[in-house]
Amino acid sequence: MKSPNPVFTHPILQLLQKCRTLDTLKQIHAQMIATGLTLHTYPLSRLLLFSSTLNITYTLSVFNQIPNSTIFLFNTLISSLVNQKHHTHIAFSLYRRILSHKTVKPNSYTYPSLFKACGLHPWVHHGLALHTHVLKFLEPTYDHFVQASLLNYYANSGKLGVARYLFDQISKPDLATWNSILAAYASAWAHAYILKNNLRLNRYVGTAFIGMYSKCGCIGLAYQLFDRLSQRDTSCYNSMIGGLAIHGYGHRALDLYEKMKREGLAPDHITFVVTMCACSHIGSVDEGCKIFDSIKEIYGIEPTLEHYGCVIDLLGRAGQLTEAEEKMRNMPMKPNAILWRSLLGAARVHGNLEIGEVALKHLMELEPETSGNYVLLSNMYAGINKWEDVKKIRKLMKDQGIIKIPGSSLVEMGGAMHEFITGDKTHPLSEEIYLKLEEINRRLQEYGHKPRIKEVLFDIEEEEKEDALSYHSERLAIAFALIAADSSAPIRIIKNLRICGDCHASTKLISMIYGRQIIVRDRNRFHHFNDGTCSCLDYW
Ligand code: ZN
Ligand code: ZN
Repeated sequence: MKSPNPVFTHPILQLLQKCRTLDTLKQIHAQMIATGLTLHTYPLSRLLLFSSTLNITYTLSVFNQIPNSTIFLFNTLISSLVNQKHHTHIAFSLYRRILSHKTVKPNSYTYPSLFKACGLHPWVHHGLALHTHVLKFLEPTYDHFVQASLLNYYANSGKLGVARYLFDQISKPDLATWNSILAAYASAWAHAYILKNNLRLNRYVGTAFIGMYSKCGCIGLAYQLFDRLSQRDTSCYNSMIGGLAIHGYGHRALDLYEKMKREGLAPDHITFVVTMCACSHIGSVDEGCKIFDSIKEIYGIEPTLEHYGCVIDLLGRAGQLTEAEEKMRNMPMKPNAILWRSLLGAARVHGNLEIGEVALKHLMELEPETSGNYVLLSNMYAGINKWEDVKKIRKLMKDQGIIKIPGSSLVEMGGAMHEFITGDKTHPLSEEIYLKLEEINRRLQEYGHKPRIKEVLFDIEEEEKEDALSYHSERLAIAFALIAADSSAPIRIIKNLRICGDCHASTKLISMIYGRQIIVRDRNRFHHFNDGTCSCLDYW
């Protein structure tokens, strides 16, 4: 067996981590020179990183003596300086050195730190210059972290219009971009800006902001804004009803729908979608079906695939699976993946294996690349001990080269984004996080929480639990947030997959035990956990 590269695991590097004074650092540095470690990039980067937290003069003298510096070393030092929030001007002078360097060129890891530095000071002009450099030095498809930091920079410097423009340019905003816009718009800063400029907001801009606020998890701000708009049209109402619906405030959404009709505004295609979605989330089947019927009977519009999707979702969630299936069979068009997925969700909640299996098979046909579907079906078979079928699915995944997407969660803390993958142990505070998780588990048990166990029939999830200690990413993110931010601020998390039943039940309790509001945006919707309950009312 090959042993791990000694340069990465050398014991001297462990000493660095524990080093607290300049004198010990100098001793370690001497040992690194003696053992030849300073000839390698990685140990050098560690030296720069730890040294920069102790003494900047010494760090720069080390850096200046490196004969062939690389962009990796430049980036390491720049990001460390920016993260400490001191010496950000030195970060910029290092960047200037990159620009005049013969062999070193900036890359996509260089810019996020620099934009962050601009955010720490009112260095607006630096940011604009950096933006032109991004366009000059990076390929047009520069990565999402660069996009996110650009967007963040403009949002933070009050140029919300540019931020919005950049956001709209991104065809598929990923987690980093979402988090950026979330942080920017969630800040009380942004709120003051909107309210101050409120009078000048016309209904188009207002509608866009309501949608933006809702998507960022700030439903309260969205409603405040809606309330203050002097003119409202159907689109304003749609945006607000939709926002309330995805946040689980279905009754308020329906009230607004009635108010809109009283004001003489005609509902359109989108109104029906968002209003039925509101009914779906609160389980108002009769109301939702009435709205569906009214589309054709009262408004003379032919229902679209999306409208069918809403009514099928509504019936399915309420447990009327036979009716849902019947509607699907009698539709004038072919059901798409979204519809099958909603039927699957309903089958899961109501324990209907037969319909669940049919839905999943259709899903796998329509989306042969989506790993989540295979994992769901295989977990479903495992739940009822159909091990032969489990094996078959695993083989199918392997044969077709389908790779499982690991669950990941992002949480914003002190202006930096922290990402956690299921079972992650790479975070610098990993040890503390796992200790916190033990404490959380103890307290959960005191409150009578039992982790979901295999025997629960049809408890299918998109993610697997490898073992009891391999925590899903949102659990790590929550534990980290509880350690890192000792305040009453809500914890905001973005997760790439659907939250599982066990994590959902635990998070509800954690919100009560620790007295913290936790907002999780999973692949499907927002969950506002507060005082032991969730805004989705356990429908998701
Ligand atoms: Zn989970
Ligand atoms: Zn929920």
